[in-house]
Amino acid sequence: MKELTQNLYNQRQSRTGPKLKLWRYAGLLLTYRCSAACRFCSYSCSPQAGGLMPHEIALQAWDSLVQLAGPEAHIHITGGEPFLYFDHLAGLLEEAAARNYPPLNSLETNGFWVQNQSEAREKLHFLNKIGLQELAVSFDPFHAEFVPVESVRTLQTLAQEILGPHRVKIRWEKYLENCPSVEVFLAPQNRTGLQKMLKEDRCRFTGRAAESLGPLAAELPLEQIQKQSCQNVFLNARGVHIDPFGNVFCGQCSGIILGNLHQKPLELLWETFDPPNLPFWAPLFHSGPAGLLPQAAAGGYQPRHLYASKCHLCTDLRRFFFDKGSFLSIIGPEECYCIEKC
Ligand code: SF4
Ligand code: SF4
Repeated sequence: MKELTQNLYNQRQSRTGPKLKLWRYAGLLLTYRCSAACRFCSYSCSPQAGGLMPHEIALQAWDSLVQLAGPEAHIHITGGEPFLYFDHLAGLLEEAAARNYPPLNSLETNGFWVQNQSEAREKLHFLNKIGLQELAVSFDPFHAEFVPVESVRTLQTLAQEILGPHRVKIRWEKYLENCPSVEVFLAPQNRTGLQKMLKEDRCRFTGRAAESLGPLAAELPLEQIQKQSCQNVFLNARGVHIDPFGNVFCGQCSGIILGNLHQKPLELLWETFDPPNLPFWAPLFHSGPAGLLPQAAAGGYQPRHLYASKCHLCTDLRRFFFDKGSFLSIIGPEECYCIEKC
């Protein structure tokens, strides 16, 4: 387990000053490919998106997280839709078990694969045997555009029977009983209903969510967002997401590449992460996305009247820079920026 003083940023802080926390979790995006293309995806996953995380990269991340956080290391696997590559996933979990890594804490799915009950049972028995701690099933009006509620209900029943109820989480269970159609929320006369739902369900306006829902949920003028820095988000992130190509994102900040596991192991990325001294990260650290506005405006960016959140502004600006080819090593990959194919 690392000491806080092993991080470059922390070494300059006083004893009581704010510190960069140790990363204790890693979310491995097995693939960007998904059976769905939800409007509030915080990446831009879809059936056309690609990528498949090689076992070596996933195992390297798993090992590094144990070096960083010791027994508190928490690994979850997400996507995209990991069950699209179940054999690859199963092979990875078997290799992790053979190396005596701590068991997988959580596996996220949208439940699309529960069409054949005996196949579904087989998969769940495997996950039970391998020691999965929690199956996290995503469901809400946006997922319901692509996955029938009956599939999710069936998965809930089978998973509770095989894994036990305490190892199954549905996010959000309230919609299993009554799931209003997404059209209800998207109706122009129901702006307030949409805004309320997005707040309650903690929608993060990055990736496709920023592009497809951000403008509909926008109610904050730029002046309000200009006061919001990202310092605490970076220092308190407590973990990272890692994409199929080895790109590492701080916490939930999809599409801002902190480093790549093909070039540097995770523990070294943590040790050298010093956001106020890194290009692109420094303005975010001090002033939030508004800190990037002068450079964007000089290149022709036209601010909107209203934004849904600072992450909406951030994604809008990054999309602008992405299209211009600026900050190429930091703003990417294209799977986070809703290119035409997604
Ligand atoms: S939100 Fe989840 S289920 Fe929906 S497109 Fe994104 S990864 Fe797929
Ligand atoms: S504004 Fe950007 S950097 Fe800040 S928390 Fe949101 S996505 Fe992350």
